[in-house]
Amino acid sequence: MTEFNAAALRQMLSRLRDIMAGIGSVQERLDKVVALIAQSIRSDVCSCYVMRAGEVLELFATFGLAQRAVHLTRLRVGEGLVGEIAAHARSIALADAWSHPAFVYRPETGEDFFRSLMGVPMLQAGRVIGVLVVQTREERPFNEWEVETLETVAMVIAELMAATQVVKRDELFPAEGNALLPVRLSGLALNQGIGLGTAVMHRPDVRIRRLVSDDPAAERARLKGALDNLRAEIDRMIDTAGDDESGFADILQVYRMFADDRGWINRIGEAVDSGLTAEAAVQKVKDDTRVRMAQVPDPVLRERLQDLDDLANRLLGVLDGSQTREALPNNAVLVCRSIGPTELLDYDRTKIKGLIMEEGSPTMHAVVVARALDIPVLAQVHGALSRIDSFDPVVLDAVAGHVILRPTEDIQDVYASAAAARLKQKEFYAASRDLPAQTRDGTKIKLFINAGFLIDMQALNDVGADGVGLFRTEMPFLALPALPEVNAQVDLYRQVIAAAKSKPVVFRTLDVGGDKLTSYWGGVTEDNPAMGWRSVRLTLDRPSLMRHQLRAMVAASAGIPLHVMFPMIASVAEFDAARQILDMEVERFSKKGGHGPSEIKVGTMIEVPSLLWQLDDLFKRVDFVSVGSNDLQQFLFAVDRGNTRVSSRYDVLSPPMLRTLAKIAERATGAGIDLSLCGEMAGHPVDALALVALGYRTLSMSAASVGPIKAMIRSVDLPKAREFVLNLIQSDEPSCRSHLRFFAQDHGIVVD
Ligand code: PEP
Ligand code: MG
Repeated sequence: MTEFNAAALRQMLSRLRDIMAGIGSVQERLDKVVALIAQSIRSDVCSCYVMRAGEVLELFATFGLAQRAVHLTRLRVGEGLVGEIAAHARSIALADAWSHPAFVYRPETGEDFFRSLMGVPMLQAGRVIGVLVVQTREERPFNEWEVETLETVAMVIAELMAATQVVKRDELFPAEGNALLPVRLSGLALNQGIGLGTAVMHRPDVRIRRLVSDDPAAERARLKGALDNLRAEIDRMIDTAGDDESGFADILQVYRMFADDRGWINRIGEAVDSGLTAEAAVQKVKDDTRVRMAQVPDPVLRERLQDLDDLANRLLGVLDGSQTREALPNNAVLVCRSIGPTELLDYDRTKIKGLIMEEGSPTMHAVVVARALDIPVLAQVHGALSRIDSFDPVVLDAVAGHVILRPTEDIQDVYASAAAARLKQKEFYAASRDLPAQTRDGTKIKLFINAGFLIDMQALNDVGADGVGLFRTEMPFLALPALPEVNAQVDLYRQVIAAAKSKPVVFRTLDVGGDKLTSYWGGVTEDNPAMGWRSVRLTLDRPSLMRHQLRAMVAASAGIPLHVMFPMIASVAEFDAARQILDMEVERFSKKGGHGPSEIKVGTMIEVPSLLWQLDDLFKRVDFVSVGSNDLQQFLFAVDRGNTRVSSRYDVLSPPMLRTLAKIAERATGAGIDLSLCGEMAGHPVDALALVALGYRTLSMSAASVGPIKAMIRSVDLPKAREFVLNLIQSDEPSCRSHLRFFAQDHGIVVD
């Protein structure tokens, strides 16, 4: 295979295309294909396994193995080396395949004589549809170029197979059970709501008509032209987003940076040089990215790779000239594996009643956009693509976390009234927008929102909150390889402040690391990232990060009050160090002749238990504190908040957690320090009832929770609730939740 070069590859690809497009049965054509590959790359064997119904890989054609094994040898996904390649969509190259633990010997194939094996997945639209394998008698290693070559060949065969319908989709992914019965699939609700409508499959994949080219230079030129058009198109989207204040501009800006990513563009260019057309090259790099995506353990990084997928689809659309989306029915529920932010924005927003994804996670860009557009989202719905068909009626319940396919009329009626009730409730919350968040006995509670993107700021005024209690500054920057220049940061913070329209915004310094991306920033893999080099530990060790961020905050707040909060402080010494950097930056700013902030309030999150034993010292130093109950609970119970096996094992409404919260409230109130709580529990009515009863007078939550929390507050008689809760936390039960719920019911407190 060593003499095999780019020109030979191009020649083989064009012969492959001729065979697949030529005459003869599918079997005859595939037989010719495997023979061509084996001869071209001088291997003793080339075999093509095709994925059949029930996740079984069937030997479909072979050159070199015994012909009797064709259609007889079947391997489950995960079984043997071939099954391993399919299971992980990952190529394998082994000089001695027999010594690999996953190797299984199939006597009918007669493969006794072949030692080395190289296998690659055949991917079509990101899904494994088969495996292509070559084997040689002698024991020899394969190099990266050889693996790449076989991957390119596999991709071309997969595309040609799909185009010529070698194996029909129904056969590959049969619908399970009786197609007429309702089916329920579960998922993770990422934006609550109920949507009834017709399934529309979001098909980002453009069918590639021309795969192979003899003129790489012409294809390079096409690629360049398409990239220019793509950038111009995104710039137009950014302009529109800026104009109509929909607030998507910041997300699109990050996305736009990917369109200039040299690594991505170079990889496509290399694929063009290997003999693919521009669109086939984009597709190949997209498939490679998908495979990488599946293997990246870091969810945030995976989401950013999703943006690259979106970009590749858009580029394919430009190359193909087919960018326009098909028209949606009036009640469309989009179904997809995953979706990029611009793909979602391409649709007519008024017609989308819901979004169902096989993948997806809370911080992905499309979910942020969907939240802003109030589209219910259900993610991680396994089997969504294979079990939902276009035009299926669906009921999406992104409150309970499931989707019902082909619902009966009864089911549809039940959900239609639930949707109507939710709408009414929303109208009720909207109507209470300007009512004070005041308890029945006249205690005023401040309600703030948590934000992370510019897009979230719109909601601040929509829901009538008092300000932003937590602006997670890391959010807009997670996708970038380094913190942006000071000026870019100043720009963002200014926009946030302007959007807040004179309401206070608490900027929290970078809280990266832990569950929020270590790969770019820290660059180290840690066994225990939640307790590792994260947050203020990282920014104190890299003071230039902290300095630049604080410099930008100071500059953005010229002439107005600035609120800065440090996360993950575990000792007052850390606070002192951070505060010192802030003071330096303030001094630097005024030395340069600038007018600094009119007032500076500095605080910390309370989320590491060690701080509970330093409260006296801490309160001498800070202007305010905010309890991060998500992390505080994680560290109090030693329970990883991101690990679903254990994360719901302990309740925040348990006596130890509530006693801790009560102590903090008592001490902060005694010291006259402003106290708030900005963890998830602030946004859940029953939990918030406990908090106000324990003395919390400021709560910060997602904007969607402000209405329900205000309704709870306006219906509570605080002295009664306080007496009840102070008693309750003395109990030895694991959770106080049901007692609190009954109390609310008995006293007419609105908690649903
Ligand atoms: C918390 O820990 O409660 C908190 C609000 O911070 P984050 O969720 O960003 O870690
Ligand atoms: Mg936290």
